[in-house]
Order: sequence, then C-alpha cells, then structure tokens
Amino acid sequence: MGMGLGRRYALVVATLVVVYWLVPAGLGRNVVEILVGLVAMSALMLAAHNDRAHTTAWHMFGIGGTLILAGDCVQAWYRWSGSPQPYPSLGDLGYLLGYGALSLGLVLLQRGRPLTVSGVLDTAVVTVAGGLVLWIALGDHLGPPGELVWFTSLAYPVMNMLLLALIVWIITSPVAVLDAVISRWLALSIAALLIADTVFGLSDSSLNFQDRLFSMGYLTMYAGWTGAGVRAASRPEPPAPSQETLLSPLWLLGMYAALLVVPTILLIDYLNDHQDSHLPLAVASFLLSVLVPARMWLSMRQLVASTRQSDAFRDDLAHQAAHDHLTDLPNRAYLMELLSAQMHRARRSGSEVALLFVDLDFFKRVNDQLGHAAGDEVLRTTADRMKSVLRAGDVLARQGGDEFVVLIDPVPTPAELIDIADRLVKAVSVPIMTAAGKASIGASVGIALARDGQIDAEQLLQDADLAAYRAKSNGRGRAEIFDQALRSELEARAKLEHDIRTGLSGGEFELHYQPVMSVATGRLRSYEALIRWRHPQRGLVPPDEFIPTAEESLLICEIGRWVLGRATKQLTEWTREDPAGHHDVTVAVNISARHLASKSLVDEVRSALHDSGLDARRLVLEITETVLMDEPTADAHLRDLRALGVTVSLDDFGTGYTSIGQLQKLQVDTLKIDQSFLRSDDPATQALVALMITAAHAFNLDVVAEGVETEEQLQRLSRIGCELAQGYYLGRPLPAREARIASEPAR
Ligand code: C2E
Ligand code: CA
Ligand code: CA
Repeated sequence: MGMGLGRRYALVVATLVVVYWLVPAGLGRNVVEILVGLVAMSALMLAAHNDRAHTTAWHMFGIGGTLILAGDCVQAWYRWSGSPQPYPSLGDLGYLLGYGALSLGLVLLQRGRPLTVSGVLDTAVVTVAGGLVLWIALGDHLGPPGELVWFTSLAYPVMNMLLLALIVWIITSPVAVLDAVISRWLALSIAALLIADTVFGLSDSSLNFQDRLFSMGYLTMYAGWTGAGVRAASRPEPPAPSQETLLSPLWLLGMYAALLVVPTILLIDYLNDHQDSHLPLAVASFLLSVLVPARMWLSMRQLVASTRQSDAFRDDLAHQAAHDHLTDLPNRAYLMELLSAQMHRARRSGSEVALLFVDLDFFKRVNDQLGHAAGDEVLRTTADRMKSVLRAGDVLARQGGDEFVVLIDPVPTPAELIDIADRLVKAVSVPIMTAAGKASIGASVGIALARDGQIDAEQLLQDADLAAYRAKSNGRGRAEIFDQALRSELEARAKLEHDIRTGLSGGEFELHYQPVMSVATGRLRSYEALIRWRHPQRGLVPPDEFIPTAEESLLICEIGRWVLGRATKQLTEWTREDPAGHHDVTVAVNISARHLASKSLVDEVRSALHDSGLDARRLVLEITETVLMDEPTADAHLRDLRALGVTVSLDDFGTGYTSIGQLQKLQVDTLKIDQSFLRSDDPATQALVALMITAAHAFNLDVVAEGVETEEQLQRLSRIGCELAQGYYLGRPLPAREARIASEPAR
C-alpha cells in the first residue's frame, strides 16, 4: 500500500484528465468524467476498509460520490440521447442527495472533536462571506419563488454553504482529530465543488463560462476524494495532539478575505453599473463586523494566556535548574554563578566578598537513626531556620548533602560575620521534632573573605570549606575564619603528615616512660608510655606538636599500633631483667579516639599482648572521655578490650562533660584526674577533687592524680585518700633505659 498505491492512483487520475482535455466536447468527456468518479469511489472504498476509526464516514462519502456520479450519468444520458434536459431533473436530485451524504460524512469524520467558540466563529465568518458570494452570484437565477425551479436553485447554494461550513470547521480545528493530509485533500475537493457549482450556476449568464472550465472543477473534486481516500487507506499515524497555532498568517488572510467580500461586491456592482442586493450586503456586512472582531478578540485572549503560560513554564524550568529540589534553595551551580558575579563587582568597586560555609554536625546520625525521610525533614527545617536569621540581601544556598553556603552582601566587619555565624549555629542547634523522632544536630561554620580580588570563586569556597573543617575539628558547633595564617597552617599540616609517615618507617619515634606511684607506699605501680619524635632537624619533638595532626587521619592508628607493640615489649623486658621489682607493674598506653573507633584495635591489642607475652592485666589503655561521647562504637570496643583482661583508664577526667553520676555506666576501671585540678589552690576545686575521689571509690574505680609537682600536693592527695599519683615530683617521663634506672631507688 502507501506510496505505491498513491502513485498508481495519481497516474490513473492524471491520465484520465489528459484524455479529458484531448477528446472533443460531448459524450466522450462525460464518460471520462464518470471514469474519474469511479476511480475516486474505489479509493473511498479502500479508505472505508482500512481506516477502521472512520469506516462509516468513508461509506458516507462513497454514497455521496455515487449519488453525484449517478447525477452525472443522468446528465450524460440526456446529452447522449439528444433529448432536452429538464430543470430540475433526476440528475439534480442525485447531486443534492449526494451533497447531503457528503455533509454527513464530514460530520462523522469530526466525531470526537470538542466544540470550541473560536471554531464556531471561524466557521460562521467563512459561511457568511461565502454565503453572500453565492447569494449574489445566484440571486438572478432563482426563478419565481415557491416553484420547483426556485427550490432547486436555492438548494444548491444552501448545500454548498453547508459543505463550506463543514470544511472550514475541519481545517480551522484547533485540535487535530483528522490527519492533516486527509483534511487538505477534502478541503481541495470541497473547494473545487463549490467553485464549479457557482460557475455552473452562472454559466448561462452574461459571463458565459466554458463548459470545460467548470468541468475541471468537478474533476478536481474527484481527485480530492481520491487523494483523501488513498491517504486514509495507508493508515497514517493518528495526529498528535497539536498545539493551537494562534494568529497564523493563513488564518489572518482568511479573515481579511472575509472582510473584503462586501467591498469587492460593491465595487464590481459599481463597475457594472449594477445597483441591487443592498439588503444581503448590509446583513452580511453587519454579521461580519460582529463576528470578525469577536474572533480576533478571542485569539488575542488565547495568545496572551498562552504567552503567560509559556513564560511561567520557562521561569519554572529555569528555577528548577538553579535550585535544590529538597530545600528550594539555590544549588551549587547557581551559587557559583552568583558568587562569580559578586566577586567581579567587588573587584571593580574594591569591596570585599564574604562566604560562610555551614557544615552540619551529626547529620549522618539523623539519617542512620531516624531514616532518610527524617533526614530530609531536618534539612528543610534547617534551611528555613537559617534563612530566618539571615539578612534580606544574603543568599543561602545548598552546597549538597549536609552543607550549606551563605553569601553575605554587603560584607560587615569580621566581628559581625562571627555574629552571623553564631546565630546560624544557634538556630540549627535547637532540636528538631521529626515524624520519626527528635533530631539534634549542630553546625560548624567556616568563614572566608576575598579582600583583594586575588582569588576566584572556587578558591573562596574552598577556603570557607577548610575553615568549616577546622571549626569541626576544633570541637564543632563553632565558627572559624579562614585567613592567610590558616592557609599556611594547612600547608604545614600536610608537610607534617608526610614527615610523620616517613619518620614512622625511619624509626624516628621513641617512647618515654613516666612512673605512676602509690601515694601511701611510694612504690612503683605503673609506667605511662609517652611518645617522642627524635626529628633529624628539629630535635626531640613533644607529642602535642604532632599527635593532633596525626589524629586527623588514619596515621594515629599506625602510631598507636607502634606504641602498643613497643610498650608491651618494654615491660616484658623489664620484668625479665628484674622480676621482683616489676611483676605487678603495669604499662599505660594512650589510645586516641579514632583508633578506639577503628575495628582493628581489639585485634591489635591482642596481637601486641601475644607478641610480647605480656599478661593482659598488665596493660592499661588510657582514653579520653570525649571518645565516649563522639564514637558510638567506642563502648562496644571497650567491652571487648576489658573482656581480654585489659584495664581501661579515663584520662584527663574533669575536663569534659562526664558527670560523676555517669561513671557507674562507663566501661572504665580507673580515673585520671586532670592536672589542672592539682594545680589550683582554690579550696572549692580541692573539695571537688576530694568529691571525685570519694565518688570513684564508691563506684569501685581506682584514681590517679596527674601532675603532682610538689611534696605539698602529694601530702594533700594522701590526706584525701587518693591512692595513685603521677607527676614531675615523682618522676619525669624518661627514655626507657633512664626510666628503669630512675625507678631503682624507689625499691
Ligand atoms: P597525657 O596523656 O595527659 O599525658 C600526660 C602529659 O603530662 C605528658 O605530656 C607528661 O609529660 C605531662 N606531665 C606529667 N607529669 C607532669 C607534671 O608534674 N607537670 C606537668 N606540667 N606536666 C606533667 P606529654 O608527654 O607531652 O604528652 C602530652 C599528651 O600527648 C598526652 O597527655 C597524651 O594525650 C598525648 N600523647 C603522648 N603520647 C601519646 C601516644 O603514644 N599516643 C597518643 N595517642 N597520645 C599520646
Ligand atoms: Ca595519658
Ligand atoms: Ca592526662
């Protein structure tokens, strides 16, 4: 089917038309015309067969076409027989019934099409204008009213008008329900029919048209049906729901043509010195002057509405591309755009640009414990809260995950920036009630300033991010300002990490040992292993200068592993050398939070004990209380370690948040009271130390007082019943060999 079929039909119709022009006027032409009609009928039957959705419509067309063909046959018979042809004849009956069937077919084709005001108006405009032309053209040929001749002559233009209205109805449809090619072929066929009928109606008037000319109209009509039928038979894709094209040039042209009908007729009348038909002209003119503006107004309204709609749609798209879906805040890409623009402006005006990087604390915990829906809720609430504490000109953006960025404009003083950051932290830190439960988060804020226009947007963001990172590692819930000093500190840190790594493999680290004594007897009870770095250039480096940096990466675990191995071996060695003096002495190793949180610690302790042959009871692990707060896994690991027989000591007690009441629940055996308590002469502080010791004893914990530097401090500890002490007064941390010698006199 399809192409091949279409070509074959086109060839047949074209051949017949050529033949029509070649044969002399008379019966031959009538026969050719009927043949063309038969070809069209076959195409319509094919369409009825293949286009299942419109079978009845195509049948109607077939019936209409056949009736018209029958009319043609009657006409031809009159011609052939030479008998005078009456008017109206049986042929006219065939034609008029045929037009009725065609009209019905057009209606059926449009089944399912919604009725629109603009469609009705379009149809009305064309019908009025076309109707006027027909009326004027045929007005003189009607004959006496009431008779059959009058009736027939009137029926033709009325049927024509009906067909015209229907075809206009089809082609101006804002919603395509019919394949566009089919409706164009149909339009061609109906237009040809209307023109031919009009010309035929005028044929015996003064204009005296050629027989062949109007016959061409009928041939074109058949060709149109053939085209429509073949197209429908090829089963075209159903039309896509099309967007209404508003104020298209063709449509405007149609409206103008309709408006021009009346003045044109007036002009022709004037030129022909013909002065009748004032009434129909006035009526048509009146109708058109109402219909056309109404239709125009409707179009304008639709145009405005659709423009508004597409504007809104475009705005919506732009908004979506630039904003985060969850919080509706500007996203990273949009933020970078805003930031670059502001930095360009600042560079020109010599002003500053400030950026706040807000990194939420403990957000991961919310997601883990309350679920992702609660996490989303928390992010939204947090965004709202932050927005409420910012000033109108400031931009809050979501950087991604649990990170937000605030672009401050105009830039206030550094003090005010800190103030804004504090407000943000405070706003975020208020617990949030979600559907899944209460969520408590915090925020660490990094502040970065671009002062001289030397850095770009990307760099500024990175600076703020680093400052936030520092705020986080300095204890969270706070703000840090990024500045040059901070930047060089970061560079130094990177170098330090590298040096520690090479130092570890190069054997640059060593342990010093500080004794822990019994207050009552002065006997050695334990050694605390304290790390030192014998740096090739810097000499002996104390732990405060590298442990904090090591704690920011997994380096601290490597260090811890090394210390564990070294310290346990050392104590075993001492015990072998001097069993009497050392058999009940323990060694304490400091374990950092990150190391305690790591899965491998328990195994590492086990293998250190195994490798050294040291009894687990002689190993003390010193941990700080912050570990217990921050690392949820710490508690479980401590349990496993104590199950091994290892003792756990809570270091620097009193500096953190652990209350005495909580001691009972902790997985520890010993408390080390922080040095700061010993140093204070304040009676209240001394009373507090006494209280801590009493409480610790009540919970069956041993107590070590750290930082004993004087005889007086030792006496005081003895008075309040503290059993263990450590400090410069009792012994400084010394290298292994010296520590061992130093401990000898104590025996
Ligand atoms: P810390 O665990 O509280 O260790 C006690 C610190 O106090 C030691 O400093 C020690 O030399 C010092 N100290 C002892 N007695 C006195 C005294 O009477 N007066 C004064 N003013 N100070 C005294 P050090 O060795 O510099 O260690 C500092 C910190 O470094 C340690 O504090 C510990 O937190 C950490 N650290 C040391 N070695 C290691 C290690 O091997 N691993 C880990 N993770 N941390 C370690
Ligand atoms: Ca310690
Ligand atoms: Ca300590």
